[in-house]
Amino acid sequence: MSYSYEAPVSQALFDRASVVTPGGVNSPVRAFRAVGGTPRFMVSGDGPYLTDADGREYVDLVCSWGPMILGHSRPEVIEAVQAAVARGTSFGTPGEGEVALAEEIVGRVAPVEQVRLVSSGTEATMSAIRLARGFTGRAKIVKFAGCYHGHVDALLAAAGSGVATFGLPDTPGVTGAQAGDTVVLPYNDLQAVRDAFAAHPGEIACVITEASPGNMGVVPPRQGFNAGLKELCAANGALYISDEVMTGFRTSKAGWYGIDGVAPDLMTFGKVMGGGFPAAAFGGRADVMAHLAPAGPVYQAGTLSGNPVATAAGLAQLRLLDDAAYAKVDAVSAEIRGLVGDALGKEGVAHRVQTAGNMFSVFFTSDEVRDYEDAKRQEAFRFTAFFHSMLTDGVYLPPSAFESWFVSTAHDDRAIERVAAALPAAARAAAEATGEGVRA
Ligand code: PLP
Repeated sequence: MSYSYEAPVSQALFDRASVVTPGGVNSPVRAFRAVGGTPRFMVSGDGPYLTDADGREYVDLVCSWGPMILGHSRPEVIEAVQAAVARGTSFGTPGEGEVALAEEIVGRVAPVEQVRLVSSGTEATMSAIRLARGFTGRAKIVKFAGCYHGHVDALLAAAGSGVATFGLPDTPGVTGAQAGDTVVLPYNDLQAVRDAFAAHPGEIACVITEASPGNMGVVPPRQGFNAGLKELCAANGALYISDEVMTGFRTSKAGWYGIDGVAPDLMTFGKVMGGGFPAAAFGGRADVMAHLAPAGPVYQAGTLSGNPVATAAGLAQLRLLDDAAYAKVDAVSAEIRGLVGDALGKEGVAHRVQTAGNMFSVFFTSDEVRDYEDAKRQEAFRFTAFFHSMLTDGVYLPPSAFESWFVSTAHDDRAIERVAAALPAAARAAAEATGEGVRA
């Protein structure tokens, strides 16, 4: 297929980047490999809009992969950051900002009695797993195929076939030893979890799951799935870890926990809580967290953990996220979902818009998507055509058919009208796509 290559400055930057950085990017999916074409280098963001290096403006439906729930450059957040920067950028000592951010998290999410701040979601899940292993004295962990928890070695394990298959490393550089204690199971399948506990009695330290997965596209848990995980973990002496890096403080004031009310033993957070800066966290039961250094023996640390600028940004953002803000994000999400569904329906394109709170994604299939295998059965080549048409018409979507779309409080009528105006041509492009010559 042909792409619109009218992005000469981005192309020149990408060429430069590709000389000094592997693949030209600092995180793989930014490179547009799944959809082809030139990744857009962004230079500024304002409310619901991003402007690229060629001076083109886009309605942003990625929101930095979730964090920018108030839109870009929200004045109160920028002011808090500027005030923090003026006081200094890092002290390597405790500071009040990190206490306030921890209090905000503990105040919002009831199962979190104590919390430790880190700098990325990857660090949060890595540390939570170490803590679970240290607390239980067990080695094995259970994760689900299609759930992404950052690039932690033990969590980069592919789905094996059958029940309780040991994870095989997903990527060179992860050794069998690192992934060998990871049991990968199909998502939304409680029987598989029951069988795994039966196959490995007394060996499983924890089950980690995305609270509601958004990394294989949006695939919400079936009714009772998270509650079932909690029950099985409790019955078998394992910890239930809910990864809310994506859903936390996005899907409600208390994240996905605020929607399903299932209390995990440990939780992980990132994205929204950093206000666009590198801040993340893990927390949960006080008796478990007490095992963490310096209170307990499980080591975990970070030079920039609780950084004063990042915590100021996160705190400013969280304090603006009241019930009205979530109602607004939910309404924007519902409106855009409706528009997308209508446009694709009019062109007769088989699709499903799946939703988890205000997160959503479009699968190009008419069947319900309940796990990673279902997700992979969609006609991803139609997404490629859809994506490029939207991009050409000034709407920035995640450059992959397996990612959630994100909206913000800043998506106003004008931004939504621009999405609406771009959709008919994109739906037509999806309908006409044949999949030939596409790297989907
Ligand atoms: N967990 C989930 C559910 C995520 O979606 C992500 C990132 O997308 C991570 C963990 C890793 O977070 P980070 O990219 O900040 O390391």
